Amino acid sequence: MHAPPSTLRIHSIETLGTHDGPGLRMIVFTQGCHMRCVYCHNPDTLDLDGGRLVTLDELVERAIRQKPYFGARGGVTISGGEPTVHRRALLALFRRLHAAGIHTCLDTNGLILDEELRALYDETDLVLLDLKHIDDAQHRRVTGVSNANPLAAAAYRESTGRPMWLRYVLVPGWTDQPDALARWATHFAAYKTLRRVEILPYHRLGVHKWEHLKLDYKLRDVEPPSNEIKDRALRIFSAHLQNVVLK
Ligand code: SF4
Repeated sequence: MHAPPSTLRIHSIETLGTHDGPGLRMIVFTQGCHMRCVYCHNPDTLDLDGGRLVTLDELVERAIRQKPYFGARGGVTISGGEPTVHRRALLALFRRLHAAGIHTCLDTNGLILDEELRALYDETDLVLLDLKHIDDAQHRRVTGVSNANPLAAAAYRESTGRPMWLRYVLVPGWTDQPDALARWATHFAAYKTLRRVEILPYHRLGVHKWEHLKLDYKLRDVEPPSNEIKDRALRIFSAHLQNVVLK
């Protein structure tokens, strides 16, 4: 048996964030992702060899120092990039955070699905899963890969009975098709572990990073969704699902 990793490759740390999970949270953005979403607003987190290494000791100590600010609902969220690239290190980290009484969230695209991933999910208090399109061909168009694993990851979490939030980035012309939104919502309507669904309207804040990295940004002519498009998505999701939030 290998010793658990003692380091994690990260992009950055946000001291007290409010957008990724409940309450006030320390957000760790890991480095590296295998998807290539057309709207990614952190393309600088994609390179698996980029970022910097931090020790798990450093992260645990930092989280414990911040714990008084977390209150009853907050804790630590690991986001990215794609955190499950580092699932062995995160399993060790989450065990240590739990030993310190700190709540853990994993913000994931669901692409990786193996025994180590299942062990990490089982150690995670709340999974935030981005299910980026219900139609496989459209999912490939948006992310470059199939939605088979993200759907299976959601089903695995459901099978454990542990809580999950789902997230959906709403992009005009790419992910806002009404029939697909209805299929997405219907797919998850019977899930008992689903506590919240967040619709995240596409924004253009990361475009300059694509330009800086000399990457081809396919959404150059796409504007953020209008109120009409956002309201329509909210209506469709709400018709099938509880606790839908437009962020
Ligand atoms: S999964 Fe997240 S980090 Fe990876 S490409 Fe998509 S938006 Fe970017």
